[in-house]
Amino acid sequence: MAIEQVLETLAKLVSFRSVTPYSSGSLEYIAKLLTNAGFSCDIEVFGEKEEEKTTNLYARYGNGSPNICFAGHIDVVPPLNEDLWDYNPFELKVIGEKVYGRGTVDMKGAIACGIVSALNYLKIYPSPSGSISFLLTSDEEGCAKFGTKPMLEYLAKKGEKIDFSILGEPTARAHFGDTIAIGRRGSVNFVLKIIGKQGHVAYPHTAINPITSAVKIATNLMNIDFDNGSEFFEKTNLEVTSFDVGNNVVNIIPEQATLKFNVRFNDFHSAKSIFGIVLEVISKHEVIFDLQYESSAESFVQKYSEKMKKFTAIVQNQSQIPPKIDTNGGTSDARFIHKYSEIVEFGLSFDQAHKINEHTQISDLQSLYNVYYNSLVEFLQK
Ligand SMILES: [Zn+2]
Repeated sequence: MAIEQVLETLAKLVSFRSVTPYSSGSLEYIAKLLTNAGFSCDIEVFGEKEEEKTTNLYARYGNGSPNICFAGHIDVVPPLNEDLWDYNPFELKVIGEKVYGRGTVDMKGAIACGIVSALNYLKIYPSPSGSISFLLTSDEEGCAKFGTKPMLEYLAKKGEKIDFSILGEPTARAHFGDTIAIGRRGSVNFVLKIIGKQGHVAYPHTAINPITSAVKIATNLMNIDFDNGSEFFEKTNLEVTSFDVGNNVVNIIPEQATLKFNVRFNDFHSAKSIFGIVLEVISKHEVIFDLQYESSAESFVQKYSEKMKKFTAIVQNQSQIPPKIDTNGGTSDARFIHKYSEIVEFGLSFDQAHKINEHTQISDLQSLYNVYYNSLVEFLQK
């Protein structure tokens, strides 16, 4: 039974404490499994400093095209308060219809489904007309500088060509199969310092209270109407994430107020154009300020291709509901992969991602396995 194989593989993957950026032996374990099944495996470590060192695995079976690639990350976010977990986060626990463990949805469950579907497929069709590959990193939840991005550059230099990637990030909103992502919003973080003049709270005329301006500016920023969304994207959104004056006494008007905010933007914008809009709003206030921004991802959306349509049909056939073609969610390695290969993101439910007692339905793992297996059949049969 495929589901038993998936659970067995998942149990093994969950047992590795692969908290970003450490593979903790998990990628080496997968490489061994795949090597035994006839894949050629290439493990590359990127990053100079000890705390940066990131293990990456590329494995390929066959050398024909199309090259269908299961992409993903083996690293997980830390469990944090382990005593708040009902079970050991690094030991897969089956309770009724669910399995618990760190990474079950984000995204060791999807990796287990990919591995088992590939191995089972190759047992029946050892000479596919095309290739199966895996592109796995241990640095997606962190800075992502030494993971998929340099690995893709390295592979491109070697002449490797990936035609279609399936990234098993958790994508389902309410039900398995309800969402397929073909793009992502961009993300930009801002730090705004508003400079006032410190003084005694009893003599406000001798001081300039930066909080007065900061509150007005924050309200204006939250009310910016960037756009109304586009074909595959929701509206651009700004969220204030921090408001800080560093004041722990009661009789001082502080010198500075710091606002932090994040903008998730669609394909109408770039990080730079968002900066321009934000700067214009702030500049309308008569105040001394300093505005810094840093973008970790620009937005992107791909053309909805024939292969994507076929993949959508496979998902719909499995879940019996037409999936939404979407671009929401956080950033993912798709922001790098789409420059080299067509890519769909499709995995388990994101509701449980990063949570205490992270878990997934066993039936969802079965469904995901079916989708992955049927995709190999669809794309690799003559
Ligand atoms: Zn993830």
